[in-house]
Amino acid sequence: MRFADIPGHSDIKQRLVEMADTSRLPHALLFEGPSGAGKFMLARAFAQYIHCENPSGDDSCGVCPSCQQHASFNHIDTIFSYPVIKKSGKPTISADYQAEFRNLMTEYPFMDTDQWVVNLEAGNTQPKIYVDEGAELTRRLNFRAHQSQYKIVLLWLPEKMNEDTANKMLKLIEEPHADTIFLMVSNNPRQILPTIYSRTQRIAVNRYDDAEIAAWLREKMAVDDASAASIAHISTGNMNEAISLVKISKIRKVFLDLFIELMRKAYQRKIGLLRQWSVDVAALGREQCLAFLDYCARMMRENFILNMHVDQLNYLTPEEKSFSVNFSRFINERNVLKLFDVVNSARADIAGNANAKIVFFDVAIKTILLLKA
Ligand SMILES: [Zn+2]
Repeated sequence: MRFADIPGHSDIKQRLVEMADTSRLPHALLFEGPSGAGKFMLARAFAQYIHCENPSGDDSCGVCPSCQQHASFNHIDTIFSYPVIKKSGKPTISADYQAEFRNLMTEYPFMDTDQWVVNLEAGNTQPKIYVDEGAELTRRLNFRAHQSQYKIVLLWLPEKMNEDTANKMLKLIEEPHADTIFLMVSNNPRQILPTIYSRTQRIAVNRYDDAEIAAWLREKMAVDDASAASIAHISTGNMNEAISLVKISKIRKVFLDLFIELMRKAYQRKIGLLRQWSVDVAALGREQCLAFLDYCARMMRENFILNMHVDQLNYLTPEEKSFSVNFSRFINERNVLKLFDVVNSARADIAGNANAKIVFFDVAIKTILLLKA
């Protein structure tokens, strides 16, 4: 990660470069600010800059062996530390989830906590930084830096430490080895234990403005001007959310087409074509089948609201609306709850690994009957 890979924040980048170039590096630096502002990317780029063998004065070179090791998350003097889920009866450290964490940093560099919970398949369990991680860091930081002047700990979400962990960390931060730097990144600095917080030097990272987000979506994700502007607006400064919305809008187009096909063919009672439709939906795979059912439920609700003429409660994209204007009259008080039941029971069946082709064909048949209601 180079500074150039991160949109905006030119003042912070300059400040970090100056810190490194004048060797006024604090032992513990905290990047604090809202989710989706690029804090962890700044910390990663800073670590790479500090380790770079040939920095240009405003960025790392990106090609030296050290930069290449950073790019593949394999720099020997860089330790990633982050909250995880406890494995039953076993000491649990961040490195146990190294593959998942690298995956998240690659897929969603503006990553947020919720995405991490999904990657961990944690369900309702909140990940934490356990005391075992404090012990592991103590052990690893006892070794001298191998190939660079500094060992750097990239600590994501220090607010997820419990008190025991924090006490272990405190020792490391208070009596640091001269060659160790902690770069911490927090979305909720008020939840960090004060003993830790007070010992950090802080950098406030502000949320992006709409223009920065729109420009990034146009340049990096080939989004057209109008969509980039509207996505930037609804993502309220959260770049991660903006990127997720772009990804979702691509799949949403697929979902809308499938929803329209279901309703048209159900209305025309084209049983044979609906059998093919259920095969097509099943081919999306289990996760997307579940997402598609959520989409169907949403479209049914929105169409019912449209039919009730409560326009101010309506949330439809222009494409969805152009279909719904004519279709909404078929979703009424006689069938709306039954349609929800159909979707919900299909959802439970798919979640329970039932045969998706059969489940969706069943959805199609019931939809035929309910549209006539
Ligand atoms: Zn380099």
